[in-house]
Amino acid sequence: MSAPEKHEFQAEIAQLLNIVIHSLYTDKEIFIRELISNAADATEKLKFLQTSGSAVFEPDRPLAISVTTDDTAHSISIADSGIGMTHDELVENLGTIAHSGSKAFLEQLKAGAGKPSSSGDPGIIGQFGVGFYSAFMVASKVTVFTRSFQPDETGWIWTSDGVSSYEIEPAADLPRGTKIVIQLAESDREYSRAHRVESIIKRYSNFVGFPIELNGSAVNTVSAIWTRNKSEVTDADYDEFYKFLGHDIDAPHYRLHFNADAPLAIRALLFVPKHSLEKPGMPKIESEIHLYCRRILIQSKARGLLPEWLRFVKGVVDSEDLPLNISRETMQDSALMQKLNKVLTARFLKFLDGEANGDPESYAGFFKEFGHFLKEGIVSDYAHREPLAKLLRYETSVSETPSALADYVARMPEDQKEIYYISGADRAACLASPYYEGLKAKSHEALFLHDPWDEFVMDQLREFDGRKLIAAEKAEIALEKTEDTLDDTAARLLCNFIKESLGDKVGDVRVSRRLVDSPAVVVESDKGMTSSMRRILKNLNRGEAPPFKQDLEINPNHPMMLGLENARKSQPELAKQVAEQVHDNALIAAGLLEDPQSMLKRMNALLEQLVTK
Ligand code: ADP
Ligand code: MG
Repeated sequence: MSAPEKHEFQAEIAQLLNIVIHSLYTDKEIFIRELISNAADATEKLKFLQTSGSAVFEPDRPLAISVTTDDTAHSISIADSGIGMTHDELVENLGTIAHSGSKAFLEQLKAGAGKPSSSGDPGIIGQFGVGFYSAFMVASKVTVFTRSFQPDETGWIWTSDGVSSYEIEPAADLPRGTKIVIQLAESDREYSRAHRVESIIKRYSNFVGFPIELNGSAVNTVSAIWTRNKSEVTDADYDEFYKFLGHDIDAPHYRLHFNADAPLAIRALLFVPKHSLEKPGMPKIESEIHLYCRRILIQSKARGLLPEWLRFVKGVVDSEDLPLNISRETMQDSALMQKLNKVLTARFLKFLDGEANGDPESYAGFFKEFGHFLKEGIVSDYAHREPLAKLLRYETSVSETPSALADYVARMPEDQKEIYYISGADRAACLASPYYEGLKAKSHEALFLHDPWDEFVMDQLREFDGRKLIAAEKAEIALEKTEDTLDDTAARLLCNFIKESLGDKVGDVRVSRRLVDSPAVVVESDKGMTSSMRRILKNLNRGEAPPFKQDLEINPNHPMMLGLENARKSQPELAKQVAEQVHDNALIAAGLLEDPQSMLKRMNALLEQLVTK
């Protein structure tokens, strides 16, 4: 037999190998992913040739990938029954750099030649398709046995230590396909341990479309259902897949399975769990969307695929447009990622809108669990505010079942120009709120907000469908004057008296035309403020109140105000105490009373006068 022919690597390859070997040490395990995906590609190509009627060597050999580890010899091998390579293909594919991307990579490299390669970007390999060479990160020697599918070809053995040259010699009696045997370097013997290798295959290659065997047993068991047609997948398949993927015992609440071709080729399968795993006061949950390229994992829990406020969505996104070994670092802010994000977010919001209209009851269940995330989106993500606003649901004064803002608008009478809202812990609190009295008297509907976030949501939205969103407290409502109203002069004098009695505790004191049952309310003097927002801000700022004053509005129709106006003249001491109490009561109604002790003292004194008179 003739001596093996010796080839020098193309100069660029030798440099490239050096970089690959020395700059990727943190993520060495990906060499298994790379070799398996090459094997899967070769198998896929063979399947295509066979179905398109080409003559194929050993047509009955099953399509499979088999990995073998040898813990004693410290080797690992990856074999496939794919298309294999001819002599010339070996030289071309494993010995030369064909595409310009790698050339550019080398240019870059030369420019930064001063840097020691081991301190370089550990993801450097990821930007270029140089998967095969990753074997040399762990190998002292790589041997490739390969036999092309072409019937009149023969087998070849390719060997290299990955330094500067490789050898090729003919080999008889090889089966169709390629087997790559890696003699592991001393420091990388872990990759000859079956357990270690199994977990790597499961992690990156669980969904490869051909059976993968490790030392004779099947490893990849879950099928990549996102690549199948919807009509071929049953609900049970989807649920099972979700449970596997989401580590959940429940089936998902929603699922969205879709393909897109433009602007990117995407297959996505997204799920919304039944329950939110993020609880108040607990750390934020992590997004669990895994990014694949043709069934091979690129990045698990890929950040940036969806906006932060959609972090409750779980699933898989597969895009053929991704370079297979793109690195984490480049992935996160790449333009590609932003494009994916844009497409996925728009599609998901459209899906939710469809669900909300198609099955409102189920959507209500979703909104109860996850509405908070959508609100976070409105407050933090201007770009998606409009579609998100359509997804909001609120209880209102006329509808106990949560209602869309669009439904509210549809119910608005001609003369109502604005959308009103009131904050309160629950329905009863909203109904009893003094701020609601005027709206109720006018038969205007009000949104009832029970979540402290809602105030900020309204504040950010400002309007919906061209109608302003207005806190009830800020609504300009003027009810008709009644018979026994204080006349304007008396009312003005009473306001002055109350202001004098309260001093700095209030800003302005004035007459209100929107109260019915309450003698008075506190109203924020600042335009952008409401009393419930004040309450929230105080909580956030550890008790420190915002720097704006509150005004007091009095009800000139209320018997207490008529009485107070008389008492002001006859019993000024008592009247002062009543004025203070009226103010405190208004603060209580707004949930803002700070000093119950002095209030109680005064209250007791007043009661004492009442019973001893
Ligand atoms: P890429 O997969 O991005 O093309 P690689 O460095 O991983 O880059 O592989 C280089 C080329 O070598 C492949 O494009 C393919 O033509 C060939 N090759 C690698 N592994 C195999 C295999 N198992 N069977 C057939 N051809 C292979
Ligand atoms: Mg490859």
